[in-house]
Amino acid sequence: MIIVMKPNAKQESIFRIKSTIEANGLDAHISAGKEVTIIGVVGDKSKLLAQNLEIFEDVDKIVPVTESYKLANKKFHPEPTTVKVRDVVIGGNNFVIFSGPCAVESKEQLLATAQEIKKAGAHILRGGAFKPRTSPYSFQGLEDEGLTFMKEARDETGLPVICEITSLHAIESAVKYVDMLQIGARNMQNFYLLKEAGKSGLPVLLKRGLSATIEEWLNAAEYILAEGNPNVVLCERGIRTFETATRNTLDISAVPVIKRKSHLPIIVDPSHATGVRAYVKPLAMSAVAAGADGLMIETHPNPSTALSDGPQSLTFEEFDQLTEELKPLVKLMEKNI
Ligand code: PEP
Ligand code: MN
Repeated sequence: MIIVMKPNAKQESIFRIKSTIEANGLDAHISAGKEVTIIGVVGDKSKLLAQNLEIFEDVDKIVPVTESYKLANKKFHPEPTTVKVRDVVIGGNNFVIFSGPCAVESKEQLLATAQEIKKAGAHILRGGAFKPRTSPYSFQGLEDEGLTFMKEARDETGLPVICEITSLHAIESAVKYVDMLQIGARNMQNFYLLKEAGKSGLPVLLKRGLSATIEEWLNAAEYILAEGNPNVVLCERGIRTFETATRNTLDISAVPVIKRKSHLPIIVDPSHATGVRAYVKPLAMSAVAAGADGLMIETHPNPSTALSDGPQSLTFEEFDQLTEELKPLVKLMEKNI
């Protein structure tokens, strides 16, 4: 449930309620808006039944929250959350572009990509060092060595870097080299990994699971938030449907739905959603128009030789053209790029 305070409620009144909630063994999350403060209660509400919070000073009303996710819920936190990755701010009025290869293949490949995407206006470099591949015989990633290349690329270009983590070992290594962790579609409900990512102290990009509902996805985000890590960004990357013309089906409606249900920023990945280079641009455009806070686009110096996801990766020229064409649309949506 949430306790909505009267406009300009006194700090002592807010503090009194917070202490009462905590004294009953629950957590109180305060969201201070410009005029109205909201106190969200997490835990077993039945413990609070004996306390008649409605009659406490400066309380306007008590609203039950029926959804299972609380900290990710917009009712708990009506203002949009912004997530800082070094000096890049995701959410609010910003439009942030993540780009880079599916997999880190070599130092040269990564550095060349980092330089080119930076020139084209990308804000964050992505690259997989631990690759969750469908076949165990496909390239599995350079692992720890790949992470060292990510850090070198960051040091050389100034772009913050993000890498997917697939195990506790990967988290322990990644925190030494990267600025943001990615939890991939296949691990969206790996609750152990979600908790460990929550404890890492780094911001987390949480991709939607291949067959996950939006409610399951927000509950996955809740696992990270419940560890005390407020820096979660969601990424819609397509879901499984009966359609086979594209690798997945981009659920563009997830953008406005998430905007209505949650305060967390949401970006869109049209590369994994389609698996086809030719569809990346139109879906990137549709993501901007739907109100997304950013994009994740795979790029490669020579997609035909890529060790993974070549068919969906853009060349540098194509990426440069895409960002140029996106800019006016992003401005039309009143976001900064
Ligand atoms: C990726 O971003 O490299 C990736 C594997 O994506 P997803 O988890 O969305 O399949
Ligand atoms: Mn990929």
